[in-house]
Amino acid sequence: MQQLDLDDVEQVPHFMGANEDRRPLSQAIDAMGFAATHLELDPGESFSGGLHTHTDQEELFVALEGTATFETAPGPNEASETTEIGPMGGIHFEAGDVFQQGRNETEEPVTGLAIGVGSERHAWDGVEALVDCPDCGAETVHSLAAPDADDGRIPEMDAMRIVCSDCGHEL
Ligand SMILES: [Zn+2]
Repeated sequence: MQQLDLDDVEQVPHFMGANEDRRPLSQAIDAMGFAATHLELDPGESFSGGLHTHTDQEELFVALEGTATFETAPGPNEASETTEIGPMGGIHFEAGDVFQQGRNETEEPVTGLAIGVGSERHAWDGVEALVDCPDCGAETVHSLAAPDADDGRIPEMDAMRIVCSDCGHEL
């Protein structure tokens, strides 16, 4: 049994600058078997760096305070939809579900939790993102890989490889 105090959990800002007040609770609990992150999103901040899906992890987002807007898209160049959750609401995505990004589009803070199962932190090679590929000249699925990011911490942006699944172009 281990207890934690959220105020003592180290802030780890999102590696792409999507948010600042991001506290991975697994950093305070030894050998935790899933990812749980407390976030406070300022207006304009987001849970993630862009529309993405996890092939190997299901995710639950809960907005405890404020209202988060989730954009979802079934694939590249397909129309996206938005869904509002909270306060005290949530949204769940299965592994390999639609591409998604949650944002704070309000003028008030959004306080919430992001929970991912099943690994302490998601395997970066299980992440696929929708990104405009300069070579393809279109939005395509890109795979993310961080070869050196096996130490339980979010990788540095310059350690991240983002590769177009259609043509192999690396951003
Ligand atoms: Zn491409």
